[in-house]
Parts: sequence; C-alpha cells; structure tokens
Amino acid sequence: MSNRGWKTLAAIGIEEKVKEIAIPLDKRAMHVIGKPLYFQKYGKAGEAIWSIPRGVLNRTMIDLAEDAGVQFKFEEKVWDVDLPEAKLFTGNTEKGKWKEYKYDIIFGCDGAFSRVRHKMQRRSRFDYSQDFIDVGYKELTITPNEDGSHKLDKNSFHIWPRGKFMFIAMPNLDGSFTCTLFMPFEGEVSFEKITTTEEAKAFFSTYFPNVMHDIDNLTEDFFTNPTSAMVTMKCYPWTYWDKVALVGDSAHAVVPFYGQGMNAGFEDIYELDLLMEKYDDDWATIFQCYQEQRKPNADAIAELSYRNFVEMSSKTADPKFLLQKKIEKSFAQRHPDKWIPAYSRVTFSDRSYAEALAEGDAQEEIMQQVMKMPNIEEKWDSVEVEERILSLL
Ligand SMILES: Cc1cc2nc3c(=O)[nH]c(=O)nc-3n(C[C@H](O)[C@H](O)[C@H](O)COP(=O)(O)OP(=O)(O)OC[C@H]3O[C@@H](n4cnc5c(N)ncnc54)[C@H](O)[C@@H]3O)c2cc1C
Repeated sequence: MSNRGWKTLAAIGIEEKVKEIAIPLDKRAMHVIGKPLYFQKYGKAGEAIWSIPRGVLNRTMIDLAEDAGVQFKFEEKVWDVDLPEAKLFTGNTEKGKWKEYKYDIIFGCDGAFSRVRHKMQRRSRFDYSQDFIDVGYKELTITPNEDGSHKLDKNSFHIWPRGKFMFIAMPNLDGSFTCTLFMPFEGEVSFEKITTTEEAKAFFSTYFPNVMHDIDNLTEDFFTNPTSAMVTMKCYPWTYWDKVALVGDSAHAVVPFYGQGMNAGFEDIYELDLLMEKYDDDWATIFQCYQEQRKPNADAIAELSYRNFVEMSSKTADPKFLLQKKIEKSFAQRHPDKWIPAYSRVTFSDRSYAEALAEGDAQEEIMQQVMKMPNIEEKWDSVEVEERILSLL
C-alpha cells in the first residue's frame, strides 16, 4: 500500500486502524548473486511503502465496514445482473436456484474476471481487451524465528533479481514473510521445467541458495500452491447509466510490477467520493465524470506497470540501460527538485498516473539524447553530462 491507498483510507477515517496491521518498508534489500546484500532507499526520508497481508487487510476492512453498517453475504455468488433494473441474481451454484435482489445502484467490485462487467460486455459498443503475460507467479512462505522475530530485515522489500525471473519477500506482522516467485511459464528456466522435488531443490540451490532453507515446506508448497497468471484488462465504458459502475480490477486490472493495482482501485473510491460530495444524488453525472476522469489514469498505470515488467525481465541485463539508470539516479540525487524518478511520482505522490506517465516519457526523451553523447560510458558522472540534462529540461 502506498500514498494513493492511504489517502483514500484517511478520507474515510480508517487509515490509523489499517496502519496497525501494516509494516513500513523504506528500502529495497537487493540479494544479487556474487554481491553482498545491499539496500536501496525508496525515496526521501520518511517515505515508505507498506506491507500488509492480503487476508488480514480483507478481514480488517470487512470488520470496519460492518461496524459502519455494511451488510456482508458470504457463500452467495453473483451469477447474473439485470443492468437497467439494478438487480443481482445470486446462489451457491450456477445451475441451482438463484435469489434476486433489487438495488438502487450496483458497484461491480468483483475483480479482474468480474461477472458484472461480463454482463456489460454483451452490450453494443462496449470495448474490452485482456492480455496475459508469459510470466506466472507462485506464493511461498518464510516462517518466523522461534522467538517470533523476522528472519530477514523487516523494514525492507526483499528482491532476488535473476534476469527473466525473480523472487521477492514482504514481511508480515507475525514474523513471517510472504514470498512470490515470478517466472516464465515456459522456456529454459520456467515453471514447466520444474516437475519433481529434485528439480525444485536444484532450482532453488542454484538461484536462491541463501534463502531456500528459510522457506517453509519449500518442495511441498512449490507443488501444492497454484501457479497463477497475470493479466492486463481494459474496458470502457465503466458505467451503465445511473445504475451500475465498475470499480477496481473489474474496470482496470494491471500486472503487479508497480504495486499499484489495489492503490488504483482505492483511488477510484477517493474520486467517486469527491464527485458524490460535488453532485449529491445526481448519479448519472457522478458516473459520467468518474469514468471520464479515471479511464486515462487507469490506462496510464496499466502502461507503467507493463513497462516495469519489460524493464525487469529484459532490460536489467543491458549495460546501456543500467548506465542510463545510473545517470538518472545520480542527477536526481543532485537535483531532487528538477528530476523526480518515475517510481516516486507513482508511489509517493498523488499527482495523476497520466501525468506521471507523460513526465516519464519526457524524461526518457532527454535520456535518449544524453545516451548519444560521445564516450558517455566514461563521462557519465561529469559536469558536462549534468549540464546537458539541465539544458534539455
Ligand atoms: C501477485 C500480485 C501482487 C500484487 N501486489 C500488489 C501490491 O503490492 N500493491 C497493490 O496496490 N496491488 C497489488 N496487486 C493488485 C491487487 O491485488 C488488485 O488490484 C486488487 O486486489 C483489486 O481489488 P478488487 O477489490 O478490485 O478485486 P479483488 O481483490 O479481485 O476482489 C474481488 C472480490 O470479488 C469477489 N467476487 C468475484 N466474483 C464474484 C461473484 N461472481 N460473486 C460474488 N463475489 C465475487 C471475489 O471473491 C473477491 O473477494 C497485486 C496483484 C497480484 C496478482
């Protein structure tokens, strides 16, 4: 959770309650093969992203919502929606007997494979696209030490980058870490190549020797936990008159390489809330403004997230790319007012995602010019390069 998530929770008065279950991470801990562990601070002093286990966040938010009067119905799946009438049809199975509910308004917050959106997709002039990436993910767990403490630094986002695949670990309050292995489904090093316990052990001892002994039930969990897919999903419109609106992943699912999917969903709520203040009960106007304002930003964070995936999987081994990143970092450190890195703009500010993307593109154009300077490899940290960037800003 980062700035945009907290901003939304603060607006509805539950930021402090949710912070009780979160751990601040002010840096990345990089576990690179052949190098000692090193740390990269995220932003300025006091800036951090926050780690919260998904299930704990869900339960806490459900409790807080119930206290505020929200009624939850579990084991009742939505199977169909009557859009013009704002009716939901629910039941335990698709074929069984359904219950019918009539509402004033329906918010479809039912995730990337939303039933509510599914119904909207059948309408004319509804745009929809989905793109799966060829990388999947699997969750594993590092258990706490016997005294309940964390086995790794608990205020870091741990990353073991390995080119086309990587392993990450995020701390939980109970001393454990939730870990994720991102790896291609197919290919030389891939999920399809690991089919036996021996292969799983060999894979971890080759690529992740310093962490494999901390992972709980490594070989069992590797084969029992699912290998899941990641998708970018776009659609439009997000609303049906003044009756139905899509919110969160049902309207805009992104690949998770910027850590912004949930934050973007929360920001939808923040903006809806402002529009409700402004337009009172005029839901047709609220919904129209909501989708017009949010769609360009949802597209921008989808693009930024996808680019981060490409960067992580194919560019981190490119010396030219690494040099460019080094120049940008050094310039940003010397001129923090003139060069805000894309990650900080997305994570630690609440300026729009579209603006963050546009500024990132402008910075990229400048860096393309800088990288063309003769002998840039030797003089990357020189006053000449600094002055060139300043002249292009
Ligand atoms: C590996 C991974 C890592 C991620 N990391 C981050 C991160 O660090 N930071 C971040 O901001 N985002 C992250 N995300 C994205 C984040 O998980 C999603 O953006 C977020 O969960 C979307 O919330 P949502 O409420 O819109 O949808 P969901 O979380 O998918 O919730 C949808 C809910 O609707 C219910 N539902 C679905 N269909 C029906 C139906 N027919 N009837 C009734 N109920 C139904 C589901 O059971 C579920 O409870 C990550 C995603 C992945 C895959």
